[in-house]
Amino acid sequence: MSERLSRRVAAITESATLAVDAKAKALKAAGEPVIGFGAGEPDFPTPAHVVEAARQACLDPKNHRYSPAGGLPELKTAVAEATNRHSATEVTPAQVLITNGGKHAVYNAFEALLDPGDEVLLPAPYWTTYPEPIALAGGVTVALSTGVDSGFRVTVDQLEAARTPNTKALVFVSPSNPTGAVYPADEVRAIGEWAVEHGIWVITDEIYEYLTFGDHTFSSMPGLVPELADTCIIVNGVAKTYAMTGWRVGWMIGPADVVKAATNLQSHCTSNVANVSQRAALAALEGGLACVDEMRVAFARRATLIHGLLNEIPGVEAMVPQGAFYAFPSFEGVLGRRLGHLTPTTTVELAGVILDEAKVAIVPGEAFGAPGYARLSFAISDDDIVEGVGRIAELLGRAG
Ligand code: PMP
Repeated sequence: MSERLSRRVAAITESATLAVDAKAKALKAAGEPVIGFGAGEPDFPTPAHVVEAARQACLDPKNHRYSPAGGLPELKTAVAEATNRHSATEVTPAQVLITNGGKHAVYNAFEALLDPGDEVLLPAPYWTTYPEPIALAGGVTVALSTGVDSGFRVTVDQLEAARTPNTKALVFVSPSNPTGAVYPADEVRAIGEWAVEHGIWVITDEIYEYLTFGDHTFSSMPGLVPELADTCIIVNGVAKTYAMTGWRVGWMIGPADVVKAATNLQSHCTSNVANVSQRAALAALEGGLACVDEMRVAFARRATLIHGLLNEIPGVEAMVPQGAFYAFPSFEGVLGRRLGHLTPTTTVELAGVILDEAKVAIVPGEAFGAPGYARLSFAISDDDIVEGVGRIAELLGRAG
């Protein structure tokens, strides 16, 4: 007898980041004073002018109907222009597919590119979603390990050592979720040139492009290496830049044939992204970056704050976050020590104790292919950061 669930779907694991967030929210709803470092989303409301554009869009009957599956033409044009401006690329609107969030763009990209057995190089720590759509498309994830001592950046030597005749693509994310690392331009260029030399596709996730701090600046791989244009897919969206996670608008940008194929796929899966959300995204892209800069300044301040607090905890080692809104400390020095009646030996166990005892939610590194670490999102208030890390410090201070 066949199984109830297909093997393909049964093999998908729950998103660990969403699971931690859900558990923290449930405890909070039950009256527990939980501080949640789990959320991967800005804590700011969507800028008012964007919300107003959506309100107006609701009133216009043309937005009540189906629209082209690949996206509103004016939004595709705005995406191409914004990308060319910030990434120094030369993409056209025909190379853009508007998707239900960046996540959907990731899914479409792998569906469009991978055949069973194709290998995808995925630098770890990686965003927890990546391995799943790779597996669904029949691909094989080849994780490449990086740590806090190498700034969480993969090297060309590492990539070259992992390359086989089956290597089809590399996933590149800078600024990175979960590590907060930002690759300098020369390293981005070197990796892009390596990919061109070996005919390896690059899926470059630029969703945190505007969230960089201090001297760290964003570099777009296809912008620096124009020869990559024919074997590169950019994943992006409005979620993180404009505090619009709930609106579900993202996009993929790639060679016209790949985008056409992915649009065909989307036309049978989801059709167009909600028109009101697309109109809101258009207002965001056309509305300038002043609102983004205000949020970036807050994130930069919190990056310094959380790093200072974490590094004061004995046994914890953190890199100063360079972009995005995540700190990714190593807890190696804490594991194996006694905490109350438990002795956590993995970060999954440690995160459980921290949630139960200190009422603080963090996401264990296992979710990102990086045991020994944990992710703390600092898209929460300064006061909550101080209180939450303070509670962790207090708990770990009691370790035997
Ligand atoms: N890429 C990365 C690296 C992310 O962190 C996220 C959100 N967690 C996404 C893509 C997808 O974002 P969304 O689907 O909300 O647009």
